[in-house]
Amino acid sequence: MKYVQEYRNPETAKRLLQRIRRRSTKPIKLMEFCGGHTVAIFKHGLRQLLPPHIQMLSGPGCPVCVTAACDLDKAIALGQLPGVIITSFGDMVRVPGSRSSLQQAKASGADVRVVYSAQDALAIARENPQKSVVFIGIGFETTAPTIAASILQAKQAKIKNYYVLCLHKNCPPIMKAILDLGEVRLDGILCPGHVSSVIGARPYRFLAEDYRIACAVSGFEPVDILLAVDSLVEQIESGQPIVEISYRRGVKEEGNTIALKLMHSVFESGAADWRGIGEVAASGLKINKAYERFDAEKRFEIKAPPAREPKGCICGAILRGVSTPTDCKLFRKTCTPEKPVGPCMVSSEGACAAYYEFGTNDGR
Ligand code: SF4
Repeated sequence: MKYVQEYRNPETAKRLLQRIRRRSTKPIKLMEFCGGHTVAIFKHGLRQLLPPHIQMLSGPGCPVCVTAACDLDKAIALGQLPGVIITSFGDMVRVPGSRSSLQQAKASGADVRVVYSAQDALAIARENPQKSVVFIGIGFETTAPTIAASILQAKQAKIKNYYVLCLHKNCPPIMKAILDLGEVRLDGILCPGHVSSVIGARPYRFLAEDYRIACAVSGFEPVDILLAVDSLVEQIESGQPIVEISYRRGVKEEGNTIALKLMHSVFESGAADWRGIGEVAASGLKINKAYERFDAEKRFEIKAPPAREPKGCICGAILRGVSTPTDCKLFRKTCTPEKPVGPCMVSSEGACAAYYEFGTNDGR
């Protein structure tokens, strides 16, 4: 299958569903670690189409949702420093921190600008040489290479007023952390398509080899996801977990070596804070010594008060796969996409937003 349309073909989807039903004999739990997969699964009603004993859980895969309140508070504190322009992706601006959001900070006078890429932030730095421009770098290995490129470019062009608040995350370490927490017993993992297009399939091998967890890298069309689920079911039923690439048109075993080289030239791994999970060793990307002058945390003294979660919000438990949005007392009542209380409702890739928009009647 070469073309996107083929991955949306209802007949192919039907055949795959029949095969999954035939093959799957026991209750299993699968987790997706990608906000794009969460949305696609809901949008196409795949949870309801799969046999009821196949449970799909959403893990910590939405970049906005996993950003810890303490990190968001740092971004807000930075925006309150004189002469600082904060640049950020749109969703981030609406996420409530401990006491306010970047949007509220903007309303109170901070210079906060929504950008579509780090390149836009770099352009703002060029246009405002008398100001310090800080880009809020969030996201997994998918976005990190582009942020690394912006730092390399700033160095080359001698742009001295561009900084990154580096909140980037690595995907495989958080998969390990979720398994080590032991709160949910997973049988299989739907590995993220975009992240894997950069890192490849090899970094997931420990999941199959050490944890005996079935893995399938999936694309984002309904047939892509069913192909991956079919592979997971086959691996689980045969008791032979591997890392299958079910998204061959987007992912190579070794990943994208150019993007990886770019990423590793600017970043090194370090501990990162995750919403609802806390600090996880080697799960973040930090700016390395050679480029530390672009690191906002090194350039500015950031004073943020102790972080706290929005009252009543259970985003943390949802990100760990131990609760679902319908377990939250605020869901659809005081928390809606128009007036979100927590990040999982703000982000279009958040589980709460997906439940809100596409709903489930069966509690799955
Ligand atoms: Fe948080 Fe709102 Fe989701 Fe509840 S419904 S967990 S308050 S984002």
